[in-house]
Amino acid sequence: MKVGILKEIKVLENRVCMVPTGVATMIANGHEVYVENNAGAGAGFSNEEYVAAGATVLDTPADVYQTCDMVMHVKEPQPSEYDMIREGQIVFTYLHLAADEPQTKALMKAKSINIAYETIEKKDGSLPLLVPMSEVAGRMAAQEGAKYLEMPQGGRGVLLGGVKGVAPATVVVIGGGVVGINAAKMAAGLGAQVYILDTNLERLAYLDDVMPANVFPVMSNPAILKEYVTKADVVIGAVLIPGAKAPKLITREMLKDMKDGAVIVDVAIDQGGCFETSKATTHAEPTFTVEGVVHYCVANMPGAVARTSTIALTNATLPYAVQIANKGWKKAMQENEEIKLGANVIDGQITYKAVAEAFNLDY
Ligand code: NAD
Repeated sequence: MKVGILKEIKVLENRVCMVPTGVATMIANGHEVYVENNAGAGAGFSNEEYVAAGATVLDTPADVYQTCDMVMHVKEPQPSEYDMIREGQIVFTYLHLAADEPQTKALMKAKSINIAYETIEKKDGSLPLLVPMSEVAGRMAAQEGAKYLEMPQGGRGVLLGGVKGVAPATVVVIGGGVVGINAAKMAAGLGAQVYILDTNLERLAYLDDVMPANVFPVMSNPAILKEYVTKADVVIGAVLIPGAKAPKLITREMLKDMKDGAVIVDVAIDQGGCFETSKATTHAEPTFTVEGVVHYCVANMPGAVARTSTIALTNATLPYAVQIANKGWKKAMQENEEIKLGANVIDGQITYKAVAEAFNLDY
C-alpha cells in the first residue's frame, strides 16, 4: 500500500503522525511511504531523516492525497483538503466528527474510508489512541502547577517539594484516571503532598496499591472537595464522564475559601472544565486569575511538548496503521473489533452511532 504522511496545517499544531522509525516499520512490511515536505519539522524530524528511513518526499498535500492509498494526519482534515480526498482512500487520523458537521458532510461526499483515532476502543472500553495524550497532559499538569506557583507567574511563591525544614506544597488532583494518575505521580516525584480524589472505589483501591507513599487516594463527595480544595496550593482538574461535559465541581464561591495565589490546572477544559470559573486558554496566554486563584486552562496541553507527544502518539497509532496497510481496511476491520470501532464514515455512509445521532443522519 502507498501510505501518506501529511503535514499538520491546523494553527499551532507541531505534531506529525508518523516518525522516521515508523516509516522504516511500514517499509519493512512491504509498503511505500510518501511524506509531505517538512511534515516532521515542527516536532524536530527533518526530511532527510524520513528519506534515510526510506520515504519519498512530496511537495504538496495535493501530491500526497493524489499518490497514496492511505493518508494519515494528527488533526482532522481541514476545509482546504476536503476536495483532495479521493473515493475509496483511507483517511486515518483524529476526526472528532460529532462536533463538526461540515467535516462529516465533506467526508461523506468524498466517499473515503475514514477511521478515527479517538473511537478505536479496546474490549475493556479504554481508548488506546487517546491515552498517550492524557498521559502527556497529566504529567504536564504537575509541571504547570509548580511553575505558576512561582511569584513572578502570579502564584503564592511555594516550592512544590519544599526544602529541609519547610513543608512541601499540597496538591489536590480531582479524578484518578489516566490524567490524574500521571499528574499525581509527577507531583509526588517533586516531593509534594498529594491527595487524589475519585468517586470510583475500585479505582481508589488500585491507586492505593500503586501510588508512592506521599499520594493519598480519597473518596470524593461535595464536602470532601470543599475541605481539600481549601488546603490546596495546586488543584488539578482531571475528571471525565465519557460522552458528557465535565461536571462543574468547584464553584466560584469555593474559590473564595482557597489560598490567595493558589493554582488551578483544569485539564478537563477540553470537555468544558470542572471549575465554574474556567474558560479555555492557549499556550500564548495560558493563565488568568479569578478570586486570587491562578487558572491554567489550556485546551491542547500536549501541543507544547510536540516532540514527546508525537513519539507517544505514534507509538500507539503505528501498530493499527500497519494492520490496516497489511490487510486492507475491510479485512483489518473484520479481524480486529478495535479497528472496526474506529470506522466513522465509510463510502459515504456514517458508521459510528454518536456521529449519526449528532446530526440526525442515517446510521
Ligand atoms: P479517565 O476516564 O481516564 O479518568 C477520569 C476519572 O474521573 C475516572 O477515574 C472517574 O472515576 C473520575 N471521575 C468522574 N467523575 C468524577 C467526580 N465527580 N469526582 C471525582 N472523580 C470523578 O479520563 P482521562 O483520560 O484521565 O481524562 C481526563 C480529562 O482530561 C478529560 O476531560 C480529557 O478530555 C482531558 N484531557 C485534556 C487534555 C488537554 O490538553 N487539556 C489532554 C488530554 C486529556
